Amino acid sequence: MQSSVFDLMQQMGHEQLVFCHDPYSGLNAIIAIHNTTLGPALGGTRLWNYNSHQDAIVDALRLSRGMTYKAAISGLNLGGGKAVIIGDAAKVKSEGLWRRYGKFVDSLNGKYITAEDVNTSARDMEYISLETQHVTGVPEYMGGSGDPSPFTAYGVFVGMKASAKKVWGNDSLSGKKVLVQGVGHVGHYLVGHLIEAGAKVYISDINETKIKETVEKYRSVEVVEGSKIFDMEMDIYAPCALGATVNDESIAKLKAPIIAGAANNQLADENIHGPALVQKGIVYAPDFLINAGGLINVSAELDGYNRERVMGNVEKIYDRTLEIYNLAEKENIHNQAAAMRLAENRLAAIASVKSRL
Ligand code: NAD
Repeated sequence: MQSSVFDLMQQMGHEQLVFCHDPYSGLNAIIAIHNTTLGPALGGTRLWNYNSHQDAIVDALRLSRGMTYKAAISGLNLGGGKAVIIGDAAKVKSEGLWRRYGKFVDSLNGKYITAEDVNTSARDMEYISLETQHVTGVPEYMGGSGDPSPFTAYGVFVGMKASAKKVWGNDSLSGKKVLVQGVGHVGHYLVGHLIEAGAKVYISDINETKIKETVEKYRSVEVVEGSKIFDMEMDIYAPCALGATVNDESIAKLKAPIIAGAANNQLADENIHGPALVQKGIVYAPDFLINAGGLINVSAELDGYNRERVMGNVEKIYDRTLEIYNLAEKENIHNQAAAMRLAENRLAAIASVKSRL
């Protein structure tokens, strides 16, 4: 790593980074708290086999920063945080590991509240909840709201429709060619909405089982090999796997006029790739704006869960997406910058409210 951890924290504006280690369960986790101006930092726990500890740190820092923006733009009174556990999801999961991790979360006294993310499930949250109350996304039979992914997928779907309206003048997705990259928790629900809306759906995933399950459920989807996705003609590219897939290489090849997906941190570098997309005439739906449905859902557990209210709040993503596109046009900035500006304005306004008697 070129910069020290503290340099990175300063550059990205983090408050706290917590390293958690337990030799008995094999737990190695990093909890990143980016900003608690609006409230406690809520963000999921990702389990991933990182190539290096440095990669894990950078991922935790980037993801937690994204959560600050996501909560702020969604009108939630929550800060941004995220945690990563380093390990192979097929090998490391155990009750001991989750409960030990739960104890670490608990030691932060509610400054960080966890939930699911890549490779972690409502079942895992159930174990965590045995050691701390600062966990959301626990199963419905335990009074929680369960898997947040259907809400995330619905938010992405409405954000995609708003993007269609921007590009084609109406928000119908009927007949549009949409490539969903990653048909995991969020991706497969998104495929369902798209099929229902009459889109022609293409899917790609590195996991053959996920491909098989999706094809069996939605017979009309077509499978595309991972190496070929940026060579195909499509109307919408929906990244629903991991981040940084929008980069120099993919932008050079991409033929879709819209990018709208669930993955966090889709732009490899927002300062380079945000403007590059504008230059190529591609409408980019800011990731933290349209993938906020899951956060909106789990956060509702904190003030008494109500599904209708959650759905109403997720639907607001449609208008907010159009609002961002208008702001970007007016200010002559790229869409991600416009979304960040709106979130930063709210953070500054609430910081000022809180600093006064
Ligand atoms: P998941 O792990 O269930 O699904 C991810 C899928 O992507 C898996 O099927 C995996 O095999 C596939 N994948 C990984 N690398 C790939 C590649 N190079 N090419 C194609 N497929 C690949 O995760 P998820 O919960 O569906 O989340 C997907 C993305 O959305 C993540 O970036 C996550 O951070 C983000 N997100 C999820 C939620 C949520 O509610 N689950 C909320 C906000 C953002």
